Amino acid sequence: MENTFDMLIIGSGPAGLGAALYAARAGLNAAIVEKNPVSGGQIINTTEVDNYLGLPGIGGYEMGETFRAHVEKMGAVFIEDTISSVKSSDGLYVAEGVSGTYTSKTIVFAMGAERSRLGIPGESEYVGRGVSYCATCDGAFFRKKDTVVIGGGDVAVEDAIYLAGLCEHVTLVHRRDELRASVSLQNALLSRENVTVEWNSVAEEVIGEGKVTALKIRNKETGETKEIPASGVFIAVGMDPVSELAKGVCDLNERGYIIAGEDCVTSAPGVYAAGDIRTKHLRQVITAVADGACAVSSAEVYIRTL
Ligand SMILES: Cc1cc2nc3c(=O)[nH]c(=O)nc-3n(C[C@H](O)[C@H](O)[C@H](O)COP(=O)(O)OP(=O)(O)OC[C@H]3O[C@@H](n4cnc5c(N)ncnc54)[C@H](O)[C@@H]3O)c2cc1C
Repeated sequence: MENTFDMLIIGSGPAGLGAALYAARAGLNAAIVEKNPVSGGQIINTTEVDNYLGLPGIGGYEMGETFRAHVEKMGAVFIEDTISSVKSSDGLYVAEGVSGTYTSKTIVFAMGAERSRLGIPGESEYVGRGVSYCATCDGAFFRKKDTVVIGGGDVAVEDAIYLAGLCEHVTLVHRRDELRASVSLQNALLSRENVTVEWNSVAEEVIGEGKVTALKIRNKETGETKEIPASGVFIAVGMDPVSELAKGVCDLNERGYIIAGEDCVTSAPGVYAAGDIRTKHLRQVITAVADGACAVSSAEVYIRTL
């Protein structure tokens, strides 16, 4: 395979797929590199997506497949590889992957975001042995068992609702006295008989013996601590950008998001940031796909100047 491209798109979530579609339509010699065998990024982990125009109620996994099939039909080149570094060299960019080296005139960073870690004792020790960041991926392992979800936003509440349908009991641990999740999600959660909410409480330690047995929490108001017996601890306390590759290539903000506006232009010539990885107000599929298109439009202008 030819390894020098007009455009190398890293990540095949909605942003990368949007970019690949527009690049193919623009006749660019582009390739999209994805570390996973399937495309769709974060959205493949959700059961139902109801807010993407024209595809009401589509499953997340099916959405990824549908997007990818469309992009493949337009002739996009997919490479399964994990990119480990990107450097500029003689006016080009060189991306090192596990399976190959790719040289390109432009780069679109579309590596998205992933769940934040809490950093409490026991968390990393028990990842895969009771600690999880994805209820739809791992929930089935906890059928008829007790689980805890940590967080108070849409994702945490969605996770708790999903788990309530599988587990004996679900405890939601939230550090405030009200949830940030949408009212409809809150209502769906609080109407479940097998859900309890521990308000004003923070997780202090994941406790286990080979696998998770409990979560220790502290009530911020009273200072009291207690252990909630559980086989699974699901952490849903926010997202972090997957922007390690972009460090030293273009400017990032203090939270690690690549600084780029709606045109997806970064501080480095020929480098674009699309989707959840860039500074923006709304991180959703619809905005990620749109970013992909904008990144290609900006890159086309740049390529013409070379
Ligand atoms: C549980 C959940 C439910 C959601 N529900 C909705 C919803 O209902 N509606 C909605 O609009 N949005 C929803 N979202 C948000 C939506 O999924 C994201 O906004 C969107 O996926 C962002 O797309 P992206 O392409 O920017 O990044 P991502 O989806 O994160 O994709 C990034 C891709 O890059 C790949 N990658 C990362 N690093 C590398 C590397 N080094 N080399 C190669 N490949 C790499 C990853 O494997 C991944 O495929 C949800 C998110 C979650 C987690």
